[in-house]
Amino acid sequence: MKYISILTVILLFINTVVHSNQLNMQMEAEGNDSTDLSSAGIDGPYIIYRNDAAILKQVLQNENGFYCKSDSVTGSVIGTQITCIINDSISFNTIIKDPSSNESSVYEMPDKIIVFSDIEGNFIPLRDLLISNKVINNSNEWIFGTGHLVLNGDMFDRGLHVTECLWFIYHLEQEAVKHGGYVHFILGNHEIMNMNDDLRYVRNKYFENCKLLNEEYKALYSPNTELGRWLATKNIIEKIGPYLFLHGGISPVIDSLNLTIEEINSIAREHYFNSREARKNTDPRISTIFAGKTSPFWYRGYVDGTTTDDELNTTLINFNVSKIIVGHTIVDFARYFYNERIIAVDTDHAEGISEGMLIESGLEYRVDKNGNRHLMK
Ligand code: ZN
Repeated sequence: MKYISILTVILLFINTVVHSNQLNMQMEAEGNDSTDLSSAGIDGPYIIYRNDAAILKQVLQNENGFYCKSDSVTGSVIGTQITCIINDSISFNTIIKDPSSNESSVYEMPDKIIVFSDIEGNFIPLRDLLISNKVINNSNEWIFGTGHLVLNGDMFDRGLHVTECLWFIYHLEQEAVKHGGYVHFILGNHEIMNMNDDLRYVRNKYFENCKLLNEEYKALYSPNTELGRWLATKNIIEKIGPYLFLHGGISPVIDSLNLTIEEINSIAREHYFNSREARKNTDPRISTIFAGKTSPFWYRGYVDGTTTDDELNTTLINFNVSKIIVGHTIVDFARYFYNERIIAVDTDHAEGISEGMLIESGLEYRVDKNGNRHLMK
């Protein structure tokens, strides 16, 4: 009897530990949508560099269901064509590029700029916006001339075509430069989260796909992957003409560090794949760039109205810009804040509210998924 009681206590204790671990996991995973019914689906390819080979893995479908197609290539894959499949009628090809160098932080003002943000894995809305606003044609070819396309962060999470959105940007970059244009991809908090195995908003599809791919999720975007390497060349802030582009905003504490745009990018890039440690770094330049509320890719003060006029003026002077364009915090339509000095462009693409903004001949327009343009006010 005594032994049974001890056993009961031990079992109760184990049960408590297991239960509290489950609670902890639930708390960490609170971003996940419990109603997410997505399951394995066509995805990829992922290119993983391992043991002097490039391993190309893609989830495809045959009559028996979804399966992983895996190829191992020794030697260079530069110039290799890959195909991304969205559905029965939409797919696109792209070519693996030479390793990119890091993006510049400052650019001259081009003829025109179009900006979209927070696509969050919604490939169809992204492609519709690009086609209806004459950035690309139906064959995914660049028709925006010497204009620049800016994607202002958060291509990852929530949607079911994250990989395809990334490869599409990768493809458009090559298309743009052929025609004298340019694509800018500014990293948002969701890029940094996925590069750090913070999977709160990753859809169930991708976890099921990982089983088929026989890979852990973090292996898909590590520095030893083509997409991971490519993401690491991107910036978190850029200046184009008189406009500052970043995902969240410049918090007062970032201003107080007196960093240049180049310094913010180079400090951030060093820690893209270890953001948790960066947040705890004793160097305030590093910890502030990665800390939740003050980070350039997390700050929300422009849309929630907590930034003061003085603080905004300080930022505009520090970075020598007249306006700041941000995503990250959802707005009903692409719109101004702070007397036209802030332009917020994160609309709810998944809900059909797909907007962005266009700067052409000195004028600023709201643009939408039907190709309508309205002067901003
Ligand atoms: Zn964001």
